[in-house]
Amino acid sequence: MLYDLKAKIAKNHKLTPSIYYLELEIPKLAGLLVPGQFLHVRLLGTTDPLLRRPLSVNRIVNKKNVGIIYKVVGKGTYLLKEMAAGETVDALGPLGNGFDLTKIKNSKNPLIFAAGGMGIAPFVFLSKYLRKKKRKITAFVGMDKKAELVCIDELKNLGCDVKISTEDGSRGFKGYVSTSLEKYLKKRIASSGKRAAREEKPYIYACGPKPMLKALRDVGVKYGLKGQVSLDEMMGCGLGACLGCVVKTRNASNEGVVYKRVCKDGPVFDINEIIWEE
Ligand SMILES: Cc1cc2nc3c(=O)[nH]c(=O)nc-3n(C[C@H](O)[C@H](O)[C@H](O)COP(=O)(O)OP(=O)(O)OC[C@H]3O[C@@H](n4cnc5c(N)ncnc54)[C@H](O)[C@@H]3O)c2cc1C
Repeated sequence: MLYDLKAKIAKNHKLTPSIYYLELEIPKLAGLLVPGQFLHVRLLGTTDPLLRRPLSVNRIVNKKNVGIIYKVVGKGTYLLKEMAAGETVDALGPLGNGFDLTKIKNSKNPLIFAAGGMGIAPFVFLSKYLRKKKRKITAFVGMDKKAELVCIDELKNLGCDVKISTEDGSRGFKGYVSTSLEKYLKKRIASSGKRAAREEKPYIYACGPKPMLKALRDVGVKYGLKGQVSLDEMMGCGLGACLGCVVKTRNASNEGVVYKRVCKDGPVFDINEIIWEE
């Protein structure tokens, strides 16, 4: 069931110099959303921007409220940050397929989260969901700099072993999430020796910019890891009609190309399904 709702803003405040927390009162949606899904938010009373803006569900606060974190990058998010509690936006959802958890249901694989930039957004919700299943999670979180890091305490409180990387080295590992993950995998193999070969391999859930996801795919191939990636692609309608967000994927026999819509067929895909080249 898809809802197009007037959503009252419960909270909208700054977390870092450029990232904000938005909490929407949407009781009809709060109980329907699953980790990895997003809302398509439209600002009311303006035609600029005309289109909705996709924002991931960061957390389910309670039976009524849903939390989102967003970075101010352009006009839509700039206007959004100017809004106050009590004002309303239009929220369309639930949209997209969330992370597929059936892939890990009957396994004991340690889980790896890999989040780059605002790709951190869905992982608080996912961690909370998996906490009930008592899964061991190592979360690799990357930002450009320390001052923009968000959700770290939440992930730790939800039981994740958090490994931070920043591009400028202001906190944690200096460099990319993919490099930090590869270092970790090398160390894991070196320290557990033959046991590593017998142990179940980590399973990856990732979200972030395309170059990062492509680099993760390469690490995954090198270490024989499986996983899923959530794509951050600019989109129009969010309903699968405008085809503004298509990406190239491999077909089942790995020969032909299949065009898939990030909004409707994703945003989560198998890590080896996307054709990254070009
Ligand atoms: C499924 C999905 C979930 C998302 N979840 C979140 C989230 O939880 N938090 C968050 O901060 N952002 C999220 N995004 C990205 C967010 O939708 C965009 O940042 C937002 O639409 C920008 O709107 P704007 O009007 O402020 O910027 P615009 O004026 O539209 O664009 C400003 C600049 O940002 C670039 N840009 C715009 N959208 C994207 C995009 N999707 N990917 C890469 N570059 C973009 C433009 O090319 C331009 O350079 C998500 C995107 C998708 C597809």
